[in-house]
Amino acid sequence: MSLNTETESARRKMVIESIVEGRKMEAYAEHRTKEMNVCWMCNSICYRKTPGKMVGGRWMCIDCLRQLKETLDTLDQWEEELVMQKDARRQLDGDLGA
Ligand SMILES: [Zn+2]
Repeated sequence: MSLNTETESARRKMVIESIVEGRKMEAYAEHRTKEMNVCWMCNSICYRKTPGKMVGGRWMCIDCLRQLKETLDTLDQWEEELVMQKDARRQLDGDLGA
């Protein structure tokens, strides 16, 4: 074996090794991506252990779900306040117009 072919085969080995390493990295990244979820509301990245749920095909973290629940729980109260504000505004406008 000449020096040239030896260098050649060593170089080839290095190339193959780098390809193998690259594929390992790709497989790892893909694996991580499968475990990873991004909350569509706050964009926070959650890994497998972070609580969250799929809602309408989209991932939502527990923090956003809590906020959403709180909003829904107080929705009636909120709507009442809006109606009261609207009434008060209408009354005020009426008084001013009279
Ligand atoms: Zn979130």
